[in-house]
Order: sequence, then C-alpha cells, then structure tokens
Amino acid sequence: MVSTDSQLLELVKKYNVSGPRYTSYPTAVQFAENFDPDELQRDYAKRKRKTDPLSLYIHIPFCFSLCWYCGCTKIITRDQDRGDHYLDYLDIESRLTAETVHPDAPLKQIHFGGGTPTFLNPKQLKRLGSIICKYFTVHSDVEFSVEIDPRRCSEDHIKALKEIGVNRASLGVQDTNPEVQEAIHRIQPFEQTAEIARLLRKHGINQINFDLIYGLPLQTLERFRKTVSDVMTLNPDRLAIYSYAHLPSMMPAQKLLNEDEFPSTEEKLGMLVYAIEKLPDYGFRYIGMDHFARTDDELSKALANDTLQRNFQGYSTHAELEMLALGMSGISQNSDVYIQNEKDLGKYYEKLDRDELPVKKAYRLNDEDKLRRKIIMQIMCRAEIKFSDFEKESGINFNERFESELDELKLLEADGLLLNLDDRLVITERGRLFLRNVAMVFDGHINSKQHQNAYSKTV
Ligand code: SF4
Repeated sequence: MVSTDSQLLELVKKYNVSGPRYTSYPTAVQFAENFDPDELQRDYAKRKRKTDPLSLYIHIPFCFSLCWYCGCTKIITRDQDRGDHYLDYLDIESRLTAETVHPDAPLKQIHFGGGTPTFLNPKQLKRLGSIICKYFTVHSDVEFSVEIDPRRCSEDHIKALKEIGVNRASLGVQDTNPEVQEAIHRIQPFEQTAEIARLLRKHGINQINFDLIYGLPLQTLERFRKTVSDVMTLNPDRLAIYSYAHLPSMMPAQKLLNEDEFPSTEEKLGMLVYAIEKLPDYGFRYIGMDHFARTDDELSKALANDTLQRNFQGYSTHAELEMLALGMSGISQNSDVYIQNEKDLGKYYEKLDRDELPVKKAYRLNDEDKLRRKIIMQIMCRAEIKFSDFEKESGINFNERFESELDELKLLEADGLLLNLDDRLVITERGRLFLRNVAMVFDGHINSKQHQNAYSKTV
C-alpha cells in the first residue's frame, strides 16, 4: 500500500528530476533530420513483403480553442474548411503509405488522436473512414479508438464514428471542478461529458476511457476526489490519470497559467496516491505508470499475461504491431526505426504536393538501443526486469552486462523503491511512483545534449 507519509514526500523531493515518459526508446529528442532516405526506402520495401497486422494512427491537429495546459501538437482554428483541406492531404499520404504495405496486411488497430479528431464534422469523419477503406484492408476484429473532446461532439459525430467502425472512445475531462476549468481555459460542464458518454453507449460505442490530469491550477485533493467520483458514475473501462507537465519554455501557452495557483508537491502526490489506493475499490487495476483499467478490460488482461506494451499512445495491448502514422507530426515505428512526419503544416503539405511522404526525422535503432528499449519497456509495463529473458534472447549475463546500472540502483534499493533478487529486479509498490527514475538508469542517451530541459518532472 502506498500512503502519503513524510518519508514518501522526502523521496519525491529527492527523485523529482526531469525525465522522459518513455512512450518510446530512444525518445523523440534523439530523432534526427540527417537520415538516409535510401535506407528508409529499404524499410518500406521490407514492410511491403510482410502480411503481419498493422496499427494505424491518424493525427488531426485542429482544435477550436486553446487549453492553457496543453502540450499536444495542435493548431487552433474555427475554420472548418481546414478540415477538408487536411483530408485532401491525408488522402495523398494514405495512398503513398499504402504503396509501402502488403495488400493482405490488415489494420488490427486504428486510432484517431489530436488535436481534436472531433474537430472534423460528421461528413468529414465519414470521408476519413472512406479514405482508410480505400487504401487499406481493415481487420474484422479491429480495435478502433478515437479521442473525443466532449465540448466538440454531437450525436451526429457519434453516429458517423460508429458508421466508420469506431468501438472505443477516450474522453478528455481533466477535472470536473468549474474553477479549475476556468483556470485552465477549458469550460466543460460535467453534464456535457455525461451526455456524450450516454450517446456513445446508445450508439454502441461501449468501450469508454476518461483522461484526467492532476497538478493543475486550483486543484486540491478534495476537488480531485470529486472528479474521480464524478467520472466513476459514468462507468469507464479505463482511466488515464496524467501528471501535469509544466514546461512553459517549450509550451508557451502554459505561461498563461497562474503559477501561484499550482498545488504543492505534497498535494499533487496526495492526488496520485488517492487514485492508486481508491481505484481498486471500484474494480480497477493500476497499469504501468498512469493508467487504470477494469480488471476485465483488455489492458488488465495484457498486464496479467505479460503482453502489455507501451507506445506513443500510452499503454497498449497491440504495441508489438508496426505502427503507421499519418498526419502532421505523426510518428511511425517498427522494431528497427522511428519515422516522424513534418510538424509544420505548410511543410507537411509541400512534401505531399510533390508526391513525397512527409518525413521530417528518423531514428534507426542499433542493437544496444534494442536491448535497452526492452529493459525500459519491462520497467514501464511490468515494474520488473527478468534477467533470464535477456540471457535467453541475447545470450548476455545481465548482472555482468549491467553491473554499473545495478550499482546505481542501489540508492533506490536503499530507499525501498526496488528489490534486486539476483535473477530479477522488482519495483516495489512505493517504487511504482518512480518508474521513470528506474528507467532513466538504463537510458543510454540520457546524458546527451538534446536531453537538457526536454522533459517534465518524473513524479
Ligand atoms: S488539450 Fe486537447 S482540445 Fe485542448 S488545446 Fe490541447 S489538443 Fe486541443
């Protein structure tokens, strides 16, 4: 059991450094523009020969208004025509991407993220569905999820989503308290969220997640508890409860937040500990770092079966699939390479106008990266490292190969955050709050120049 005693607070203060969230390893700051285009062509040719199922991510960057805490890649606009224009380019990018895919390789997972996917009106959403079907084969058992902003969603949006095959929705909530909502510039009455959840179920989109954030201005433990109990009345399958990442030098909109109104480290910690201790009473399991899922949900099953994975969308049951990402800033990935699209909309359009995939950066993993990625993903997903997995697969003696890392971890061991049992390293309940700190010890790039000031605090 984790509890907010003064010792825990001291540990948080001690280990609260800046660090990656490890949705990928190496992280996006390592991606570089000086990639070899011929090598990418060889990757595409390799992909073209495979019939393995794939995952497709589509980034819709537009939002109607700016939430001041936001760290996503987005464009604020009220011009709905920009959606049509963007779809013209998604059509081109889909065609060019499909040319690199075997016609029998089905999409097993599709995710629309943003920005705000429901910025697109119902007609535009249906057009996006047709684009996918025009160029790709969709698996009959596809997991098709979409991020929904309840403030920009109507029953017609939901009908359109259902029509194109969506079966899971993530609703952005953050906090249900009106004063907090005013402080973050996101007014969203709880009734509006509840109505969207009701309409989703009415139309057969039954898998529903909610995204909350703790550490926002004017949040208190009491308000956070109320937010959790409010969303629980809507019977979610999963909750993502993210720590607010304050990086105003990288996210200028965050300068609009009143820093005097942020909760203290102690209050913030109290919110996380409350979630960890309370949610099991509602039948939820704590997954990895910031997710909670019903015990009968696929994510909980994946945790139990040791198949839980982490990728750019957080935790996933399908992260082993090669991911194709479409849209401005999307990141495609397979076991060998990460490929990131242009983050500037004009440049994204320019490359597609030339009938070129809009690649901006790439990163090719070497054997050392692959080994460390596997270790870091075990930490982030299972909260343990089984040394025998590496000995079997890579023929290495883990204790010898990572002697200096294991030495470095003795400090966390002395603080009760992990146990080294000789054949495996187990992160304790208390240590779960410090997963990123443990992972950072195995990060072979963490001291590089690109990492300075690139990350939020780890706790
Ligand atoms: S939080 Fe979501 S809706 Fe708000 S600005 Fe960011 S991407 Fe847009």
